Order: sequence, then C-alpha cells, then structure tokens
Amino acid sequence: MTANNPLLQDFDLPPYSQIKPEHVEPAIDQILADSRAAIAELLQQQAEPSWDGLVLALDELGARLGRAWGPVSHLNAVCNSPELRAAYEACLPKLSEYWTELGQNKPLFQAYDALAGSPEAAGFDVAQKTILEHALRDFRLSGIDLPAEQQKRYGEIQMRLSELTSKFSNQLLDATQAWTKHVTDEAVLAGLTDSAKAQMQQAAAAKGLDGWLITLEFPSYFAVITYADDRALREEIYAAYCTRASDQGPNAGQHDNGPLMAEILDLRQELARLLGFAHYSELSLASKMAESTEQVLSFLRDLAVRSKPFAAQDLAELKAFAAEQGLNDLQSWDVGYYSEKLRQQRYSISQEQVRAWFPVDKVLTGLFAIVQKLYGIEIRELKDFDSWHPDVRLFEIQENGQHVGRFFFDLYARANKRGGAWMDGARDKRRAADGSLISPVANLVCNFTPPVGGKPALLTHDEVTTLFHEFGHGLHHLLTRVEHAGASGINGVAWDAVELPSQFMENWCWEPEGLALISGHHETGEALPQAMLDKMLAAKNFQSGLMMVRQLEFSLFDFELHATHGDGRSVLEVLEAIRDEVSVLRPPAYNRFANGFAHIFAGGYAAGYYSYKWAEVLSADAFSKFEEEGVFNADTGRAFREAILARGGSQEPMVLFVDFRGREPKIDALLRHLGLSQEAA
Ligand SMILES: [Zn+2]
Repeated sequence: MTANNPLLQDFDLPPYSQIKPEHVEPAIDQILADSRAAIAELLQQQAEPSWDGLVLALDELGARLGRAWGPVSHLNAVCNSPELRAAYEACLPKLSEYWTELGQNKPLFQAYDALAGSPEAAGFDVAQKTILEHALRDFRLSGIDLPAEQQKRYGEIQMRLSELTSKFSNQLLDATQAWTKHVTDEAVLAGLTDSAKAQMQQAAAAKGLDGWLITLEFPSYFAVITYADDRALREEIYAAYCTRASDQGPNAGQHDNGPLMAEILDLRQELARLLGFAHYSELSLASKMAESTEQVLSFLRDLAVRSKPFAAQDLAELKAFAAEQGLNDLQSWDVGYYSEKLRQQRYSISQEQVRAWFPVDKVLTGLFAIVQKLYGIEIRELKDFDSWHPDVRLFEIQENGQHVGRFFFDLYARANKRGGAWMDGARDKRRAADGSLISPVANLVCNFTPPVGGKPALLTHDEVTTLFHEFGHGLHHLLTRVEHAGASGINGVAWDAVELPSQFMENWCWEPEGLALISGHHETGEALPQAMLDKMLAAKNFQSGLMMVRQLEFSLFDFELHATHGDGRSVLEVLEAIRDEVSVLRPPAYNRFANGFAHIFAGGYAAGYYSYKWAEVLSADAFSKFEEEGVFNADTGRAFREAILARGGSQEPMVLFVDFRGREPKIDALLRHLGLSQEAA
C-alpha cells in the first residue's frame, strides 16, 4: 500500500486523479505514526532546543501531513462521494487526537518555552518571535496547564467536535441535494432569465428528465427567488431553502442539524470553562485582534444603531413599491423579487443585463491586469496538470520573471460540491530544512453559474465581487515574504483581520478604471457603456441599510449565542432576541436559518462571524488611502503589499495596519462607502 499510495509520495502538485478513498486512511495512519516517532526522537535530542531542531523540524512534519490531508479534505469538499466521505471521517478522530496530544505535550511545550528564553532567541526576526509567542499561547489554549483528568476531557471534546462539525456540513449538503422540483410546464418559470432556464434544463437532462429541474444549489435558488413571477413558486423554494437540515419544511426531520447544534454549543461552552474562560466567545477572542467581548458587542451595536434607520427606510420604500404593484403583504419570499424590480425601475439596471458584460475570461484577464498594476506581479495560465474536474484551471504568479506561486480556480456550482466560496492555502511558502524555498499554492473555489448553451460563463456583478474577494485571500497567501510556515501567508493571522485583504480587493470591482479592465460584452467585446457604469455606481448602495442589518444580525447572533449558551434559551430564542434588536423584517416562524449557518457550526467562524464587519472597517479605511492617492497608484499598491500582504501573521494586525495607514483604523470610510453616514441620509 505504501509503495503505490499517492498520498505518501513526494509530489509537486497533488496527483488528484490518482487519489482514491482507499488511500486515505492508510496514508494518514502511516504519517501520524511516523510523526509521533519523530517528535519523540527530536525531544530526546533537544537538550538545548534550537529553531531548526525544534520549530523547523515540526514544520517539516506538519508539511508532510498537510501534503496528504490537504488534498483529501479539498476533494471531500469539491468532489464528495460516500466512499470518500467515509474515509475522510474515519481520519477525523485520529487527527483530532494527534493535535490534542501535540498541544498537551509537556516536554514539547517546555522545549518551546526554553527556546523562547534562549540566547538564540534574542537574534530571531520578528516573525520568529511572534511564532514562538503564539505557539506558547496555543499550548495554553490546548490545556497544557490542566490536570491530567481535564486534559483527557479536553481531548474527548475536541474529537467529538470534529465529528459533529463535519456531520453538520454533510447533512447540509445532503439536505441541499434532497430537494428538487421537476417542472414540465415552462409557464411555471415565467420571469426567469433564459440562462437560468437553460441551466435548469441541463440539470434535468443530467438526470434523464425532460423539462426543467429546480435545485437548491445557489444559482438555481437565486434565480427563482429573484425572478420568478409565480409567487407560490417563490414561496415554495424559499421554504425548502431556509428549512434545509431542520425540523421544518418539506423535508422536515431529514438530515436535521438541530441536535448537532445543541451538542456543539454544549461542548464549546464546556471547553471554554475548562480553560478558565467565562464562555466560548471569550475563548474565541484569546487569539483575535479584538480585545474583549464588550468591545465586539459595542462595535456591532454601534453599527446597528447607525444603520437601522437606513434599513427601515429601505424596507419602507420596498413595501411602497410592492404596494404599487398590487402586493400589500410583503413576505420574505417577495423581498428578492421586488427588490430586483425596484432596482430595475430606479436604476434601469438588472443583475442579468449586466452579466453579458462579464464573460469569465474577460473578468480574469482584467483582474490579473489590476493586480499587475497594483503589485507588479504577472499571471499566466498553466496547462497539463492533474485535476479533480475538467472545469479546473491552474495559474502561475511571477514577479520579475521569477516564480512566486500558483493557484487553482474551481469556479462553477455542480452536484456533490459544497456551496459558497472559499480560498484554502494548499501549500505554504517556507524555507525547508534542506535550505530550499518552497513556493505557495492556493485553491480558490466558487459556485458560479456554469456556462450554458455553448456561451462562455457570464458572471453577475455579485459573482465578480465574490471572485475578487477570494482572490484577495489568495494574494494574502501567495504574496507573502515570510519564510517560516507558522507566519507565512494567512498562517497565524488573527481571524478578525483575515478578511482585510479579501474585502479590500472588492473595491476594484467598483472603480470605473477597474470595471473598464474586467468588462467586455461577450458577443461584441464592447466595453461596459458609460451609461451602464453610471447606473451600476448609482445602484451600488441600493438597500445597503438592509444588507448591513442582516450582516449585523448574523454577527450578533453568533457572538451572543456563544457568550450566553446555557442560560436556558434555545438557539432560536437567541436569534429571535437579536432580531428584536436589529432586524426590520421578520422571516416566517418556520425559518431555520441557523441550521444552515455552516460558517459558525462547521467552519472557523464560531464567535467570529463579526470578523467580516470588523475587517471591513480595516479594508475600507485602507482603501481610502488609495482614494486619496489614486486607486492605481503603484506606490500605494506596493506599500499595501509590503505592509499587509507580505507580512502575514508575522506581527499583530494593528501594527501592520498602522504601518500602512499611518494611524489606527477609523470607521468613517466604511460608512461613507456604504452611504450610511449622516450626510448621506
Ligand atoms: Zn473571505
């Protein structure tokens, strides 16, 4: 098995097509056993720990594990199958046990502690010092100081949490796929765009059906909720979508995440108390930029107070508009539909119209031109590589003719692929033990509308924005200048600062000069007409108040839930209380939004969803320097790159921000960009 197990080979890029479910467990078993033996041996040799003998040696072990586990968890997300899922899940408890063991390894902790206080440490660079400081902090957060019995409990909790969060994600995917609606009468789809209908026809054909198949994959859901004239159809898909994996809706009780959520919250609270924190939100902040729960809550509440009047006004306008059209009881399943109609009426522009100007290749070429102007890097496509799906593309970044890194794009929605968009650092930049420099690799995954009917994929402007967002994460990972794995790319970056480079990139989708580069009509090649650009800019902050309170609802709900769990309130009751405070429109009682809130129950955003808003203040304020100095000012671009993108987790985010901006962040730029400042009222 070892000899021909691709996961145990040394490779440049993962041999995706050769990786089979049966390779997974043997490879992970082998690597974990080897790593344990190697750690035991290196601790014996470390009478006086050195950076290379300790930190670098552990980086090498981590890299070997990552080389095998990275492709496996990636494939589990983008090409899920029952066999792969079973193999993936069989490894989760083993990995959790290994990480806990590492975090509670007293001799290892003592070696780090000794290294941090050694004469060698005085000569370390700032990244090395930060890595050691964070490592010691993380040992404490792994229960290094706890008595044996509590350490054991800590390990049990972590193991169970890894199972539960994985199960949450699987059930959400299963619930998304469990519901479809087969339509044979085209009249039912009145209002839908041709491209949406073509895609539904493809989905039906793929299952050997005639007619159209509506699914809960996002592009399909979005098309119906935004464009279907048939109100009953909108209500039907809304009810199916917002009750996925719950006790409500058309598939009530199937794949219900409710019990998992209760257990996840219990265990997180127990974990926090075990480590001496009042609650999980406090534990979450121990490794973040925000300093206290009060600071986070007052930040969010301040934003809520400022934006709620704008949201109320947005809603009043929408209701008045719907009433003009004869609808007097606006419901949740009407919001998207009438909003789109109102947008069209007010700005004579629709998301669909705009699509024609954003064929995917034009957008990519433009995006690459933008980052070339800003950061002086060049990007070219690579051919002949091993892949997990024919849609996948691979690109290389170069600077002055030198290789910098590579990234994969997997852009389109399809069955057996997890929803949403994300970047994952597939390989870290670092200086290896043999002195060679390993270059970084990133995976960028989205769920855009796939190409239909022989046309290129045409993106909505929202999709373009998502692409820029994920690409910003990618650049953070790829343009690092740090050569120690613990702080290179996005490693070691406080979670509430991680969205700075991503949200920052979104700004260029709204800059006239940026739009000129990324747009071109897919048939004529004609640039986005000025009149259309003016309309898009005018429509930019359409309903920004409603959007803001929605994000604040999610953020406050997540943070409060993790701070107050155990006070006798159910998940739904906490959510209702937050809605009382910030929302302007209540969803129906059957809505089970939380059951699909994978960010906090299956991703890394538990008691950290506020990070989006927190980092948006940073990204808007960083961008305002470009507004002052020119959005394509190469000096400002290079300065941003060197201060933020290049330095990853090597220093506290506030230090990096101040280095770039020359002062601490202010909220003004964000409010101004969203049209939520008083003068804009
Ligand atoms: Zn992001």
